[in-house]
Amino acid sequence: MTLQQSETPGREMIERWINQNVEVGKSSEELEKTLFVYGNEAHSLSKTSTGEWVIEPQAVSQVVVFRKEEQVEQINMCRACGLDYSSFKEAIQCCAYLE
Ligand SMILES: [Zn+2]
Repeated sequence: MTLQQSETPGREMIERWINQNVEVGKSSEELEKTLFVYGNEAHSLSKTSTGEWVIEPQAVSQVVVFRKEEQVEQINMCRACGLDYSSFKEAIQCCAYLE
């Protein structure tokens, strides 16, 4: 597996997610604990002393995500970028144009 430093769909989604979460007022501390999983790529988030977000590829060869069933059904969250919505309809429309 090769990780590209250039723009990938996963990276774009992460950047969009960061922007959206900063806009809704999430703290840097909260965001820094996020692990992003896109396909078999995992990225962590950290912030430099100058305040720049750094998206760091994690060296994993395989990603397996287990979700609890009750969460899958009830959470109105965009599965692409992770933003929360008040309705399931809004959530599925969020990143719908990506794929
Ligand atoms: Zn989205």
